[in-house]
Amino acid sequence: MKRYQKTADFRKPVPSKGAQVVFLSALLVIIFAVTILNSARLRSVLNDSAQSYAQDVASQLASDITARIQSNEDDLLLIADTLLSTAQDENQLQALLDRQADILEFDHFMLLDQDGQEIFNDSGTENLKDFPGIQDSLNNGQASVSYIEGQSLLYSVPVCVDDEIIGTLAGLRTKEKMQALIQPKSFNGHGLTCIINNQGEVIVSPTDLKPFLQLDDIFHEEADSEVSQSIQQMQERLQKGQNGSFDFTAIDGSRLILAYNSLQINDWFLLTLIPEDLISGEASKYILSTFITIAAIILIFLLFLLAMFQFYSGHKKHLEQIAFTDPVTGGQNEAAFQISCERLFSQLQPFSYAVVILNVKGFKLINENFGLEAGNDTLRYLYRVIQRNLHDGESVARCEADNFFLTMNETDKRVIQTRLENLVKDINSFNEGRDTPYYLTILGGIFLVDDPSLDIAIIQDRARTAYQSLLAEQRSGFAFYSSDYTERLKKEQELSDLFDTSLENHDFQVYLQPKVRLKDGSVGGAEALVRWVHPQKGMIFPSDFIPLFERNGKICELDVYMFKEVCKAMERWIQEGKQIVPVSVNLSRQHFRHPHFLETFAQIAKDHHLPNWVIEFELTESIFFSNEQIEMVKHSIRQMHRLGFYCSLDDFGSGFSSLGLLKEFDVDAIKLDRQFFLNISQEKAKNVIACLIELAQKLGVYTVAEGIEEESQLDYLRAVKCDMIQGYVFSKPLPIPDFEQWVERQSAKGE
Ligand code: C2E
Ligand code: CA
Ligand code: CA
Repeated sequence: MKRYQKTADFRKPVPSKGAQVVFLSALLVIIFAVTILNSARLRSVLNDSAQSYAQDVASQLASDITARIQSNEDDLLLIADTLLSTAQDENQLQALLDRQADILEFDHFMLLDQDGQEIFNDSGTENLKDFPGIQDSLNNGQASVSYIEGQSLLYSVPVCVDDEIIGTLAGLRTKEKMQALIQPKSFNGHGLTCIINNQGEVIVSPTDLKPFLQLDDIFHEEADSEVSQSIQQMQERLQKGQNGSFDFTAIDGSRLILAYNSLQINDWFLLTLIPEDLISGEASKYILSTFITIAAIILIFLLFLLAMFQFYSGHKKHLEQIAFTDPVTGGQNEAAFQISCERLFSQLQPFSYAVVILNVKGFKLINENFGLEAGNDTLRYLYRVIQRNLHDGESVARCEADNFFLTMNETDKRVIQTRLENLVKDINSFNEGRDTPYYLTILGGIFLVDDPSLDIAIIQDRARTAYQSLLAEQRSGFAFYSSDYTERLKKEQELSDLFDTSLENHDFQVYLQPKVRLKDGSVGGAEALVRWVHPQKGMIFPSDFIPLFERNGKICELDVYMFKEVCKAMERWIQEGKQIVPVSVNLSRQHFRHPHFLETFAQIAKDHHLPNWVIEFELTESIFFSNEQIEMVKHSIRQMHRLGFYCSLDDFGSGFSSLGLLKEFDVDAIKLDRQFFLNISQEKAKNVIACLIELAQKLGVYTVAEGIEEESQLDYLRAVKCDMIQGYVFSKPLPIPDFEQWVERQSAKGE
C-alpha cells in the first residue's frame, strides 16, 4: 500500500511549465502595455499644456513687440512736437535728428515735406510720399508704421505748426534692428518669431530663416491633412485678426508649435515657432528614463525568472535523479520501474508482457563472507548482466536488497523459462576458468500480466507471490503466479488468525496411534498426532496447518500444548492405575532455534509427575541435514537423554536418508517412512529394508515401520525382525478415550 502511495504522489497534477511561462509573459506584456499607455497619456497631457503655454508666451511676446513699436511711435511724436522749437537752424536740426536716431536706435530720421521730399537733406532718398504710413500721417495726422522693401520699417508721425500739418517725421529702422526687436527673449533662443501680414507675407523675418522656410514648405505642400486643416484655419483666423496656435511635425521629425498673435498694428501678426519639446522636453526626458527604468526592471525580472527556471529545472532533474536512481547499481530504482511499467502497460494487450522478480538465494552470505562492497559489486554485476539479456522495450530495476524486477515482452511460458535459465547461465559465466567456482542460485517469480489495467503494485505483488510459493515449497528455479496459491495463502491466513483462540478453546486435540510390537502383538507405544477440531470448520488435518505453523513459528506453541495434553493423559493413566503406554510426540525443527527449549518440556513432565523414559521425541529427518544446527541437534539429543526422554529419527527414507546419520546421532529409534513399503513386493526394496533393520539392530537402535496398511507387509517385516509397526493395519490415530479402550481390548486379546 505504501508503494502504491508513492507512485500516486508522483502523478499529482502540477501546473505545466508552459502555462506558468505563458502566465508570466502575459503579466509582463500587460505591465509593459500599461506603462506605454500611461506615458502616451502623459505625453498628450504635456503636449496640451505645452501648447497653451506656448500660446501664452507668444501672446505675451506679441504685446511686448506691439508695445515697443508703439513706444517708438511715441518717441517719434515727442521728437516731432519739440523738433522745430528746439532747433535754430538746419544744421542744428539735422544734428538733433541724427542724435535722436542714434539714441532711439533708428537708422535715421527724415523730415519730409508734404510731397514726401526730405526737407533738409537731399540724400537722394526715393519719394516716400506714396507710402501708406506717410499718407496716414500727412492726411490723418496719425502716427503709423509701415513696411518698405528690404524688411525695413518706416515709422512716421505728423509734424505740425500751429495745428497745421506741414510734413512728417519719418524714422527708418532697418532689417537688423527689427530682427533684434522681434528676437524672443524667452525659449532660451530656441524659438523663432517673425512678423507677417494677414496674407501670410513676411514683413520682418528672424535672423535664421530655416524653420520658416520649412514652414513655407508646409504651407505649400499641405501634405498632412491635419496640418493643412490647421493651416487653413490659421489663414481664416488671420483674415479675421484672431489669434491661434497649432502643432505639427516638421520635416526633420521634430514637433513644433506655431502660434500667431495679432500685433494690433496694421494687419500684422507675430508668428512664433517653438519646438514642442522645449517645453515638454524635460518631462519627456523623465518619461523616457522612467520608461527605460521599467523596461530594465522587466528585463532584470525576466532574466531572474529565466535563471530561476533554469535552476528549478536543474534542481528538478537532480531530485528526479535521486528519486528514480538506485544508488547501488546506478540504474532504475523501484519508483522509476513502476512509472515506466505504468506507461508501458497502459497501452498493452493482456498476456503480452511478464513481470519477473529475481532473487539471489543466500545473498546475505555474500555480504557476510565477502563484505558489503563485494555484495554491492555483485548487485551491479547482476544488473549489468540482466540488462544485457533484455530485449527492446524491456526494463530492469533493483528494488529492495537483492531483488530485481524486470519486464519481459513474452507470452509463452516456455520461452520465458528458457530465457531466464539462459540469464542464470550468463550470470554464472564468470566462473569459467576459476579454480574455485562460486555459483549464484537465482530464484524467480513470474507473473504473466493478464490484466494490464491492474495497479503496478499488485502486478509486482503477484510476481512476489509466485516467488514466495517457490520458497514455501522449498523449490528452486522459477515459478509462475497462480491464483490457487493466492487462494491457499488466503486460507492459511484465515487459519493463522484462528490459531490463538483455538488453542485457548482446546480445539486442538490429541489423537494417539498405537505402535504394536511385532514379536508379541503387545502395545509398544503410541504417537501423538494433532487434530484441529474447529467448531465451524470441522476436522482439520495436520497437512493443512503444520507447514503453515512451521513457517510462522506457531508450531512451537502447538507442540508444547500437545506435550502438555499428552502429559495430562499419562498422569491420569497413572492415577487411574491404567497401563502406561509410552507416547512419542513430534518436535518441530523450529524448536532448535531456541537453545533452552527442552527445559520447558522437562518442566511440564515434572509438573505432571511423570517418570522417566515414558516419553519420546520424534525429530524429523530433515533437521539432521541442516549444517547450521547440527551441533545444536547433537547437544539436544544428549540433553533429552539426560532428562529421561527417548529420541527417534522420524520419516527415515522420505528424503536423503543416510545410514551415516545413525552413527552420527545417538537416537534410540528410527521410524521408517511409508515410502519404503510402497513397493515392498520388489526384491531390491526388500533387501534395503532388511539391511537397514539389521544395521539399526547392530547399533542398538530399535525400528518402527510407519504407514503399514497390509497384512502382507507385516509378514515381511516380521521376517526381517522389525521391532514395531505403526499403521492402519492395527489402528488409525484415535482420540484418547478410544485409544484407551483400544489398548484394553488389545491387552485382553494378548492375555
Ligand atoms: P508423521 O509424524 O510421519 O505422522 C504419521 C502420519 O502418517 C500421520 O499423519 C498418520 O495419521 C499417518 N499414518 C499412520 N498410519 C498410516 C497408514 O497406514 N497409512 C497412511 N496413509 N497414513 C498413515 P497425520 O496425523 O496427518 O500427521 C501428518 C504429519 O503431521 C505427521 O507426520 C507429523 O509430521 C505432523 N504432525 C502431526 N501432529 C504433529 C504435532 O503435534 N507436532 C508436530 N510438530 N507435527 C505433527
Ligand atoms: Ca511422527
Ligand atoms: Ca513419520
